[in-house]
Amino acid sequence: MIRSGLVAPGIILAAAIVGLGATGVRAQGKLSPKWEELTAADFRMAVQQSKGTCLLPFGILEKHGPHLPLGTDLLNVRYASLEAVRTEYAILFPEYYFGQIFEAKHEPGTVAYSLELQLKLLQETTEEMARNGCKKIVIVNGHGGNEHLLPLFGQAQMDKPHDYIVYVLDGERSRPGGPAKKSTGIDYHAGENETSNTMVSHPDLVHLDRAASESGADQKRVNLPEDVYTGIWWYARFPNHYSGDGSVATKELGEWNMKNWIAAIVEAIRAAKADEQSLKIQNEFYEKSKHPLDTRP
Ligand SMILES: [Zn+2]
Repeated sequence: MIRSGLVAPGIILAAAIVGLGATGVRAQGKLSPKWEELTAADFRMAVQQSKGTCLLPFGILEKHGPHLPLGTDLLNVRYASLEAVRTEYAILFPEYYFGQIFEAKHEPGTVAYSLELQLKLLQETTEEMARNGCKKIVIVNGHGGNEHLLPLFGQAQMDKPHDYIVYVLDGERSRPGGPAKKSTGIDYHAGENETSNTMVSHPDLVHLDRAASESGADQKRVNLPEDVYTGIWWYARFPNHYSGDGSVATKELGEWNMKNWIAAIVEAIRAAKADEQSLKIQNEFYEKSKHPLDTRP
């Protein structure tokens, strides 16, 4: 292992030539998109190939009804993200599941870090990604409980200067069309949609025969106007941490959902790569923020 500068210039030149040769081969799509699978030298090329665009697929560990694995969100978001980067290359950050899940602390297997740690870890993770060349970071959200956390985190980037942009891609989107759904009620968590998706990503982990053993019905135990928020709303309505009916899930619906989700991720990667404006405008904002009294319309 050579760490110092005690290397003959010829060796450095040879190494550089080998490196360049390898770039040509690997640039044709042979680089792994997975951060943890790349060598240090390949990582350098991966940053070039991705134009500094990196995905942070964000999952969680929580109960998913009586029939899906604790890591369903993590497994599904990584499946969709991996498929997406096969179409549009970007570097994929390793497993990340340090999100907001206080509402499932009463269920076995939930891992719920403090809010302070969630924000700090996410900030330090994006800082480290950016320090390594990921100047465009797309957080791909796979967990409904993060829907407030992630926009807040994105907004909080305005507080201090950063030399990178954080984009947040919301959870899976259901687009119009596709196979007709069999369930008619609310389908928020481990229900028909999510169970169908998992039948595509990890069919071996779906225990469909157990899906009807608990109720995922809305128990409507709190009555408040739509525009009044309270943290207990989820537990009040879905105390079994199950919302919907997973027993009617089909692979067909999962394939439709996944196809659309993957397409949305591909679209987000392409948009981030093409975005020349956000970083410039962000820098303009940071600069002006230092002396607000000089700011004129
Ligand atoms: Zn989920």
